[in-house]
Amino acid sequence: MCAILVSYHFMTNELSSNTDTDEKEDVIETVEQAPVSAQSGIPDASVASSNNLLDIIMEGGGSHTAYLTFDDGPTDNITPQILDILSRYGIHATFFEVGKMIEKNPEITQRVINEGHLVAGHSYSHDYDALYQSEESFVDEITRTYDIISRYYPKNTIPMKLIRFPGGGYNAGDHATEKQLYKETLKSMGYYYADWNSLNGDAEGAKKDADQLFDYFVNSISTNNIVVLMHDAATKQSTVDALPRIIEYLQANGWDFKTLAEIPYNPVQENSAQ
Ligand SMILES: [Zn+2]
Repeated sequence: MCAILVSYHFMTNELSSNTDTDEKEDVIETVEQAPVSAQSGIPDASVASSNNLLDIIMEGGGSHTAYLTFDDGPTDNITPQILDILSRYGIHATFFEVGKMIEKNPEITQRVINEGHLVAGHSYSHDYDALYQSEESFVDEITRTYDIISRYYPKNTIPMKLIRFPGGGYNAGDHATEKQLYKETLKSMGYYYADWNSLNGDAEGAKKDADQLFDYFVNSISTNNIVVLMHDAATKQSTVDALPRIIEYLQANGWDFKTLAEIPYNPVQENSAQ
């Protein structure tokens, strides 16, 4: 376990001059959030017309782009296998990682980033009752996980503030009411959130083998641009086993692969407020 407890502030703006900063430059952990990369070209979600990436994808046009996403890692048995497969096919994907899992497997998060994939947040605890207990607990887990992820990107290069709600952001099921409120909270904090419109079913109902996951995925395709939900939790070996077939199916049918940082954002940006 990391012995250093990191404190963090919600919506901290470091507007003061440097004159009153004391000499703490050599302290590794700082209290500010790392700024989002200015080179990314992604507008701050608080000034975009929507912070819902599915809306942005649908409004952005384009065709046959697949955004593969993997939730609940990193794990030391599944995530490396997925990375090996993505590397073999020359594909980049998005990993929605759980803060406490990153603390268990930091070298895997570093590998995910080093190999060109996007790492985004999926809460710190993934405990629905704790996470959605209050706006304060939600914000605490989101910012804590963002700060953890930021450490694995070279200084100031994290591409964007992005999360996926554990359980999804849809207005249904447990904690639906709270999630709808927290979408606005996220927007005010400059965060995007990403649900999915395609999935392999690796967390739906009874456990599926690789053939069943492949069939489930193919049947889930209903639009020209798909955000595909999959999982790299420790029990998801069949997800690994199905992945090459899913990729080859998409490649054979003319699909491109991108990370969620590569979505065209400009069409829905309302202004470029400074
Ligand atoms: Zn999850």
